Amino acid sequence: MDAATQTVLLTANQIAGGVSRLAAEIRRDYAEDAPLHLVAVLTGGWIFLADLARALALPVTIDFVDASSYGANQHSSGIIRLRHALRLPVQNRDVLLVEDIVDTGATLAWLLNHVRAGRPRSLRTVALLDKPSRRAVDTPLDYVGFTIPDRFVVGYGLDHDEQFRHLPYVAALDVRPRSAGGQTPGDGQPS
Ligand code: 5GP
Repeated sequence: MDAATQTVLLTANQIAGGVSRLAAEIRRDYAEDAPLHLVAVLTGGWIFLADLARALALPVTIDFVDASSYGANQHSSGIIRLRHALRLPVQNRDVLLVEDIVDTGATLAWLLNHVRAGRPRSLRTVALLDKPSRRAVDTPLDYVGFTIPDRFVVGYGLDHDEQFRHLPYVAALDVRPRSAGGQTPGDGQPS
């Protein structure tokens, strides 16, 4: 069993402030005559989508896509797999791709091509978290919640091996093997 130490990077209040600011920026750019089509990336984007959709105060439609380059470890495999396709057509819609976090940029670049092939009227991107120091693929980000350092983060929808998604804050996670019978200080608790 591994031990994990959390260091809080963004509190629930800070995240709420960031989501409100993003919603205001996005609202300024769209008219209210046609619904904004939010396409959220599963699974990490689920809480961000729920909060953003309610903060926008715009008519929205919602769809999900699951394209992932991560396995059960903390490193991008670089290979994108489509595990859940779009349910609704994007043709002639104003589409906003909602990403939890952009790291190398490979997933978002792949998704942009994927959605663009469906001929949306417009296509923009929003990410709650951006790790620009890790960027390998140049990817346009129209709206960014927070720029964070090169740390592996969990919480507010993001997981490590399917754990920690429920946390109301975003924390950097340091995972290391637990020594036999040993206890890691701060185990499971935000510091
Ligand atoms: P990219 O293709 O930009 O390298 O990776 C994007 C995806 O990798 C994100 O949608 C997310 O699922 C995952 N990812 C990247 N960085 C992190 C991280 O720090 N924590 C977690 N939990 N997932 C991450």
